[in-house]
Amino acid sequence: MSDNPDSKILGIDLGGTKILTAVANTQGKMLSRDHSITRAKEGQDVVVKSILESVGRALDQAHISAADLAAIGLGAPGLSNPETGILFTSPNLPGWKDVPLRDIIEKKLGKKAFLINDANAAAVGELYFGAGKGARNSIYITVSTGIGGGIIIDGKIYTGATGTAGELGHMVIDDEGPQCNCGNRGCWETLASGTALAREARHRIKEGAATSILKYADGKIEKINAEAIHEAAQAGDKLANELIAQTAYYLGVGLANLINIFNPEVIIIGGGLSNIGDILLEPAFKEAERRAFKQAYQAVRFARAELGRNSGVLGAAAFALEQTRSTGNRSK
Ligand SMILES: [Zn+2]
Repeated sequence: MSDNPDSKILGIDLGGTKILTAVANTQGKMLSRDHSITRAKEGQDVVVKSILESVGRALDQAHISAADLAAIGLGAPGLSNPETGILFTSPNLPGWKDVPLRDIIEKKLGKKAFLINDANAAAVGELYFGAGKGARNSIYITVSTGIGGGIIIDGKIYTGATGTAGELGHMVIDDEGPQCNCGNRGCWETLASGTALAREARHRIKEGAATSILKYADGKIEKINAEAIHEAAQAGDKLANELIAQTAYYLGVGLANLINIFNPEVIIIGGGLSNIGDILLEPAFKEAERRAFKQAYQAVRFARAELGRNSGVLGAAAFALEQTRSTGNRSK
């Protein structure tokens, strides 16, 4: 972003458990950062209050007021429409339905605000300030408990007809696969996420498989997570390695689909499970290569996300700035 570097933007990354708020300049440099608790179980009014308190602290830390901001961007989990600013539903915010979240924040802070899905925000963050810098066409995926993502086409986030595009984790890989939270079966995230990896490990252990995985989970089957399986794999555990290979396989199948459909220059991979690193990613890329069109595979570069936990908050801020420029005075 090349305009006035003194402009300040506020980004809010609303999660199901945490809220991250930051004031940044147009180069993505953070001038302040506040980390607080969402209190999602206490309902919408309490969450809005938490957001506003977090915003207050972030503004104070940066020694500015809301009036000094060029724009406010809010990234939120679940399905939302950036055009209308309405959050339809969110698995992380129980009870929320068709909430005009953008307008609520806008009214409380007296400054123009913009709403975007959290994973889409992270994609925009990596586009402007991280691993996607300079790319016209890129895909961002975050692989953790689920799989989220964002699609950048011609340098802009693609949000679709009603704003819900980019739900990459819900592309169906196996029509008779495991039940997904969304109601469907065999979605990508039911096969290639950290949750899927842990679920398979528990299943195999209950079946009596010989493995040392439990040793890395305090001996408790319910404590098995991706890190425990990774540690066991590094220690040479056969089942752990087999399960990671299976996750990599499904990760690769999904990547091949994305490469064939979008022909991106770069696929940026973030999220907790991706921190397992090459043991997961290298075989996934090989599987993608086996399945994707050669021309498309040769054109793509895989990159690790660079902004870590700040991708969402910086992306929400960048989205707000981009929207301020492209829409000028928004009509509704
Ligand atoms: Zn699903």
